[in-house]
Amino acid sequence: MPGRQQSPSRDDHPFHETSRSAGALRMSDPRRYVVVGGGLAGLAASVWLAEAGKQVTLLERRARLGGRTQAMWVGEVEDRPDNGQHVLATGYEHMIRYLTSIGSQDYLEFPHHGALRWPGGRTVIMHTKGFRALRTLMGAHPDASPLDRLRAVRATLRLGRQALRQPPDLADITTDQWLRRVGMPAKAREAVWDWLALGIAAEPVERESAKIFADVVATAIRLGTRERRAVTIGYPTVDLDTLLIDGAKRVFDKFGVDVRYRTVARRVVIESGAVVGVQLADGSRIPADAVICAVPNSRIGGLLDDLPEHSEIYAAADKLGHTPIVSTNLYLDRPLRTKAAMEALIGGTGVIDEVFDRQRMHRRSADGTWLYCLTTSGAYEQINRGNEEIIREQVALLRRYYPEAAQARVVHAHVVKMAQATFSQVVGLDGLRPDQRTSVPTLMLAGDWTSTDWSATMESAVQSAAKAVAALLELPPV
Ligand SMILES: Cc1cc2nc3c(=O)[nH]c(=O)nc-3n(C[C@H](O)[C@H](O)[C@H](O)COP(=O)(O)OP(=O)(O)OC[C@H]3O[C@@H](n4cnc5c(N)ncnc54)[C@H](O)[C@@H]3O)c2cc1C
Repeated sequence: MPGRQQSPSRDDHPFHETSRSAGALRMSDPRRYVVVGGGLAGLAASVWLAEAGKQVTLLERRARLGGRTQAMWVGEVEDRPDNGQHVLATGYEHMIRYLTSIGSQDYLEFPHHGALRWPGGRTVIMHTKGFRALRTLMGAHPDASPLDRLRAVRATLRLGRQALRQPPDLADITTDQWLRRVGMPAKAREAVWDWLALGIAAEPVERESAKIFADVVATAIRLGTRERRAVTIGYPTVDLDTLLIDGAKRVFDKFGVDVRYRTVARRVVIESGAVVGVQLADGSRIPADAVICAVPNSRIGGLLDDLPEHSEIYAAADKLGHTPIVSTNLYLDRPLRTKAAMEALIGGTGVIDEVFDRQRMHRRSADGTWLYCLTTSGAYEQINRGNEEIIREQVALLRRYYPEAAQARVVHAHVVKMAQATFSQVVGLDGLRPDQRTSVPTLMLAGDWTSTDWSATMESAVQSAAKAVAALLELPPV
């Protein structure tokens, strides 16, 4: 398949050495490892600890794994759309390792292009690879003058340089202010930069911290120069459960991971500077010698009460807050004749609007209905509206951008509102994300909101798990 991600070889696996002798290690390490939270961070941590031969118990408060990434059964159309379209980048190196560990690495596609669409249906192909990708970054707008394009080139170079050698005040300004400062022309911003920045941090550029955006740009440049290929955006070719959870369950079965559903952890119990157990909501206690606490910032309160630095972590978790995303899965009675699997609607509802064509992405056979997944990030207004109003708004949006939508009938619509989709990445929050290591060597934190070099993404969640697992594997033998 063109553009398919190369899977890392087994030798690239971070915990390969230990996984080779799993049986022997299980005998030699009597520690009981407990992972709290079965989202992506908790899943990756459990998979990698199990591969390293550890005895693992995974606690998940809900009846299912996956946390904020999940497929949802919609009986009316007998289909399994996701709770929100999730895209990936080739630079998601930990995520790709996780997918390799669970055997899902082939369910990704990194296409050569996406599309930018203006009202009335005017479309520009946005190249994601090679020299043409650079041209897109530097002036994709169809009405950009040669001078605009020249200015965009200069501003893009300035932006890249400042991302790598960041001015000291970058954490105090918004992405909007930064783009103005580097002189990014309005047309280049409209066509590429504003929605790209919003897509990365799920915050409008007027609120988003320039540092968050700069850090991701810097990571992309470093990965690109190290691996000599541009970091591009891709998507799963299957639903999120098939991509992220089914394979993890197979690993759990293979290594005997004890997964406990509907099990709410209340407090990690620490005595004399070491973890001794996890207190549950039902009053019982699970013995533990090492814990990875992989819950989102909104749910950390209370869990770390025994940890000396708990009040700073709780205060940071509160300040990081959250930002909403609204996803609308629209089943139409006809195709929209998209130009690409992923299309960005320029100037939509004022926040980022993306249309994902599931026929192209999943090779979904359109047996009477065509599925289009619309995502609105930074959906501060939409989140308070009723589903019917959201559906009306999204259908009207499609009609403005796709001539084929004029006569289209909505066979079924499915709205997913995620008020706490990710932690917030606005100005003033720099340096708040806590490290995975705590002052107790047997207690680690994980989750997208802990300190990583990515914004609030799946890669951040999985990277945090990799760091937490690596730190636990360094513990001296007991
Ligand atoms: C609509 C939407 C679109 C997104 N789009 C993208 C995208 O395009 N690309 C991208 O990379 N990322 C995207 N993200 C972000 C990504 O989904 C998250 O960053 C990632 O899934 C977070 O994983 P996590 O494990 O850190 O947290 P979570 O997924 O929240 O997992 C935490 C788990 O802990 C459990 N839990 C909480 N408290 C307890 C407790 N006390 N005891 C036991 N269990 C507990 C929860 O039930 C949950 O299962 C999107 C998110 C949303 C919501």
